[in-house]
Parts: sequence; C-alpha cells; structure tokens
Amino acid sequence: MIGLEVKNLSHAFGSHKVIDDVSLTVGPGKIICLLGPSGCGKTTLLRLAAGLERVQSGTIKVDGVKVADRKLHIPPEQRHVGLMFQDYALFPHLTVGENVAFGLEGRNVGDRKSRIDEVLGQVNMLDYRDAYPHVLSGGQQQRVALARALAPKPGVMLLDEPFSGLDEALRIQIREETLSVLREAGTAVLMVTHNPEEALFMSDRMLVMGPGGRILQAGAPDDVYACPKDPFVATFFGRTNRLMGVVSDGVVATPLGKFPAPHYSEGCKVQVIFRTHSVHLEINGSNGIPVDVVSARPMGRDTRVQFKVPGRGDLPVFLSRVRGRFPETPSGKVTARIVPEEAFVFHRDGDAS
Ligand code: ATP
Repeated sequence: MIGLEVKNLSHAFGSHKVIDDVSLTVGPGKIICLLGPSGCGKTTLLRLAAGLERVQSGTIKVDGVKVADRKLHIPPEQRHVGLMFQDYALFPHLTVGENVAFGLEGRNVGDRKSRIDEVLGQVNMLDYRDAYPHVLSGGQQQRVALARALAPKPGVMLLDEPFSGLDEALRIQIREETLSVLREAGTAVLMVTHNPEEALFMSDRMLVMGPGGRILQAGAPDDVYACPKDPFVATFFGRTNRLMGVVSDGVVATPLGKFPAPHYSEGCKVQVIFRTHSVHLEINGSNGIPVDVVSARPMGRDTRVQFKVPGRGDLPVFLSRVRGRFPETPSGKVTARIVPEEAFVFHRDGDAS
C-alpha cells in the first residue's frame, strides 16, 4: 500500500507500556489525526514511524516497503518520511533557503534551487529565502518547517503538535494554510494532537488514543464526536456531566430525565454522559425537569450556567453552556432538558454500549 502502514505496534519504556497493539493506515492525500491526552504515547508512535526509536513489537511499512520490525531498523533518512515536530527545530545558523535545502542533498544545484523556490512559494515564504530563523515570527518559522519537511516530496508526513507553539488567532490561520498545503502535496499525513478541535478540523479520519496507548475509537471525525463508543472518548471533547441510573424496560430513568438504553439488560447499572451544550435551559418553559440556577457567567457568545436539582443534595452541580445570555436570577421557573440523542449511555464500569 502507498502511504503509511502500522501493524500491531506495541512499545514499552522499561515496564511502562506506552503503545498497546496499535494498527493504522494512512493513504496518500489523507490526513489522519491521532488524538489523545498528554503522555498517552502519541509522540512515541511518531518517533517509531520516523525511525527515531527502535520497534520492539509490530511492523511499520512506508509505501509498501517494510522499514521496521523487531529485527529491522531502516534509518530515518532512508524512510522517505517528512517530519515536523512542535519546536520546528530550524537550524539557526542557516538561512530559510538553506534550511529547506537540507533535505535535498544529492540533487543538482538547479533542481535544488527550483524546488526550494517552489515549496517556499507554497507556504508564502519566498520573500524570506535569505533571512535567518531568528528574525521570523512563530508562524513564519512554522511555515518554513513545513516547507523543509515537504521539500523532498516525502510519501509520508509525520506532524507532532505542529501548531501548539502558536497563539490562538495565528493557530487558526496557520492551521488552515497548512491543511491546504498538505492537501495540495497529496502526501499521507499522520498528525498527533491533544487538541480535539484541531483533530476535528484537520482530519479525514481520527484515532483516539487512551491512557495506556490503546486506540479506543477510530473513524470519521464527525462520527467519533457524535457517537463515542467509550466513556473516555465521550469526555475527551470538552466538559461533560455524568448521571447514574439503572436500566428498566430498555430505558434509564435519571433525575434529569429518561434516556433510551435498548442494548442493556434489565437492572444494569449505567452512567449517562452528556456535553454541556446538550442541556437546554428554559425559563417558564413547558419541557424538562425543574432546576435551580447556581451561577450564570457570560463567556462571550455563550453563558456558562451551573444548576442543581432541588432537594437532591446527593447529586453534583451540573454545567451547561447556553447560547447567548442567561440570567443568574431568572424571573421564573427554570427547566432543564437534555437532548436524548446527545446523551451517551455506558456501563458504569466503563464498557461501551
Ligand atoms: P504529549 O502530548 O505530552 O507530548 P504523548 O502522548 O506524545 O504526550 P509520549 O511523549 O509518547 O506521550 O510519552 C508517553 C510516555 O512514555 C510518557 O509517560 C513519557 O514520560 C514516556 N517516555 C517517552 N519517551 C521516553 C523515554 N525515552 N524513556 C522513558 N520514558 C519515556
């Protein structure tokens, strides 16, 4: 297969297992995001694919050629893989053009020059060809690092948190630019991030890695977001609330309403997880469960409202994110309703439905 193929990869540092039987493929022109919390093994997986770490178990192929297994270790420079790590690592004593030229050794001078110009043009940095990295902004350095990685036309690009050093506004802009450059290059991209929004935006396919280095769910970003198959995945995309209940007649009744649980047996103890924006609060509405507002904080476009169920001191304070403004001292009765399709039911011990 063209692109990257990882099969049954496991890795440990001493007795600490950081990758647990991971398999994935990335085809040409596709962007796969590996998403997971800090320390779950994402960078280690990229380092193994790049050849910066030796494989202990499993195989890695690039463009159909095996580059690593327990016995084989093709060095990084022979893998035809482009790397871009979070610190960009531009050589400070080389100009932008010389940095990009770094991966083009072996080509004749004319070829090198035209490829440098071409790839710097792609990232809008041609005017800076003779500048040194220290005069560039973070975003410009990121573009040069991208150009350097793409210059040799690698079959596979490995990106590790490539936008984490940029401030919010710049990150969004550079992310969009990078996406279009990568799409144009048509290379197979494996990108690591702990930022769910970034993965939702960038990827054709998303893999969520949990603590312990296991892939918990893989799929189209929208599907993973909308249909999490694991409590960890459900809670990974932002703040959530949790209710406990017991299944009766295929339904779980909770203090905030009833939710379908058709795949669970009678009497099964379950948890219901729902995101903060899946709670609808109404004043003097006819739907939902009566609740008391604890606090309401405007957060730009939304209001972050904390509320509790009256007379249920045993329950936690719940959190909702309401579009627009919501008063801290509402003039009428407040009710809460959770969108049933956006409430995810799991076994209480963590198994998927
Ligand atoms: P982050 O998002 O914070 O970069 P990550 O998911 O990329 O995290 P890794 O850098 O792959 O995580 O690290 C996974 C685990 O392996 C961590 O607990 C880390 O401390 C450990 N680890 C990584 N490299 C080594 C090493 N060379 N020797 C020992 N332990 C290591």
